[in-house]
Amino acid sequence: MTNDMRSGEVPKSAEIVIVGGGLSGGLVAERLVNAGFQCVMLEAGRRWSAVDFPLPELLQGQLFWNNGMEFTDDGRMVVLRGKCVGGSSVVNQALLDTAPEQTQERWAARTGIEWLGDGTLSQVASALLDSGRFAHTVIPHAANNGNAQRFVAGMQANGWQARQLHRAQGDCRWQEGGNCIECLGGCPRRSKQSALETTIARAEAGGLRVVSEVDVDRLRETAGGITLSVRHRDRRRELRARSVVLAAGAIGTTAILLRSGYRSALPALGQQFFVHPQFNSVARYDTPVDGHVGAFQSVASDEPRFAAQGFKLECIALPRSVMALTLPRSGQPEGCLPDYRHWAGAEASIRDTEPGRIVVTARGGTRLVKRLSPADVAKRDAARKAIADIFRAAGAREIVHGWASLSVHPMGGAALGTDRRTSVVGPDFRLHGARRIHVCDVSLFPDAIGCNPGLTVMCLAERAADEFLAQDRRAHA
Ligand SMILES: Cc1cc2nc3c(=O)[nH]c(=O)nc-3n(C[C@H](O)[C@H](O)[C@H](O)COP(=O)(O)OP(=O)(O)OC[C@H]3O[C@@H](n4cnc5c(N)ncnc54)[C@H](O)[C@@H]3O)c2cc1C
Repeated sequence: MTNDMRSGEVPKSAEIVIVGGGLSGGLVAERLVNAGFQCVMLEAGRRWSAVDFPLPELLQGQLFWNNGMEFTDDGRMVVLRGKCVGGSSVVNQALLDTAPEQTQERWAARTGIEWLGDGTLSQVASALLDSGRFAHTVIPHAANNGNAQRFVAGMQANGWQARQLHRAQGDCRWQEGGNCIECLGGCPRRSKQSALETTIARAEAGGLRVVSEVDVDRLRETAGGITLSVRHRDRRRELRARSVVLAAGAIGTTAILLRSGYRSALPALGQQFFVHPQFNSVARYDTPVDGHVGAFQSVASDEPRFAAQGFKLECIALPRSVMALTLPRSGQPEGCLPDYRHWAGAEASIRDTEPGRIVVTARGGTRLVKRLSPADVAKRDAARKAIADIFRAAGAREIVHGWASLSVHPMGGAALGTDRRTSVVGPDFRLHGARRIHVCDVSLFPDAIGCNPGLTVMCLAERAADEFLAQDRRAHA
């Protein structure tokens, strides 16, 4: 091991560089390190841990790109993505869903990749859940807080089905008064099964070097390797690698490839960008709800009629920042915050069908172009009506639909597929036309998955690692 690697500096060379230290990067790192590869992970964000995650809420922007203030180019939607070692898995809700069957079939048809539609994704998801590599549980009814109880009662009164959510967590100790609302700013109990606590921790124990605060600008494939240009604490550096695995998320991976000039050869690069637009609504009840207490997000709709219309509902966490974003008068003395305990909340999440675009600006920054189509607006309105019916049936006095829309699921930009005119990455997880550039993250999604994406991100990363290892075996056979 060289000195620069030990000190957390960017090394001059590495066998394999993994760009991005989030959900997919952690999983691939663990697999490749276990197979004996010498891996370096470059992560743009800082390294935080359970003992120093930033509190209070105002400071938690540090865990996100653009301080949590990344907007689409029309200013109408905030897009959240984690920027820290562990990536979005440090700040997410860790909810686990298997890709719906219709999505798997659609992806196979869209990409020409048979295994995407033949049940493989479901099998890989089950194997991951059974592998013991991370803890997970279906949140018990007993853990439903006042917000979730009202959501379930309202759903039942309308004849709609609800389900308990499945979460990647260990013991959240709700019974001891643990308010999980904290964990969106990093879990202080080490219960949430982020990549930081699971795959990356194990990969580091096996020899992975993680260098944080390294922003990868672009890369270039030459005979025998890849040259990466990076900025490390404002200093420009170059490093050589035998192979690169891009795991920088939808926006990060796409932007690196765009800055590297691949758009002219791959016209689909930056296209097929989806976000699952999310809309929050809140309601005030006569009695305290205490939506900030206990398991903050434990139930969702499981209603075929909603799925058929292209939306789903979940009860949401209610930190004051969410209330402030949702209610127009929350900053005023007569606003909601004095009766904060009386408010409940729910989100509508839309499966968007109108693709957006990721563009890089002349200075190398990103511009996110995304509009709601008339069909998406209709889904939002139908979802809001259903939420209002739920709140009303549970006895709400006042209902407010938030003005802001939010995305916590940026997807696509470097879609998988067999046709290089309509996709960016081949079924072997290599960039079309490249030998040593692999992609393993959520940028691969051909369209909006229609459920929480994280488990499918892990499935694709698992397949990408399988492919990488098989290619290496073939090369050395
Ligand atoms: C608030 C929030 C809540 C969510 N809740 C859920 C949920 O409950 N369930 C679920 O399934 N999904 C959820 N998600 C989405 C899920 O976390 C992501 O889909 C998933 O983490 C994507 O994995 P990834 O590896 O592609 O990207 P990420 O996990 O985002 O990791 C990408 C990493 O790459 C780094 N990076 C980017 N660009 C560069 C660069 N140029 N150089 C170096 N590093 C770079 C980033 O800083 C980041 O750390 C949520 C996301 C957020 C933000």
